[in-house]
Amino acid sequence: MRCEDWQILIDTYVDNSLDETLTLRMEKHLLSCAACSYEVHSLRQSVSLLKANVESFETTPQYRERTLAALLSEHQQGVSSISQENNTQWTLPFNLEKEK
Ligand SMILES: [Zn+2]
Repeated sequence: MRCEDWQILIDTYVDNSLDETLTLRMEKHLLSCAACSYEVHSLRQSVSLLKANVESFETTPQYRERTLAALLSEHQQGVSSISQENNTQWTLPFNLEKEK
């Protein structure tokens, strides 16, 4: 396999989701390829940085409440604008029978 082929699999390898055979072949390749080793190293570094920062990020209950309220009101507006725009489209057949 060429370097480009290995680089496609690097994400999966760093995730420990590569099957055993490919993992062994990847490790063998990494021993002889500086470019792919560097790729793995920097990806692992990014993943650990991301995990460290995401876990330490904590919102206040007030912030969560405000965000939830804003999302709900936005959702309600979205739903009502859709039902106003498409009012006739959603009329069910049995309602049409009554209107006749
Ligand atoms: Zn390589």
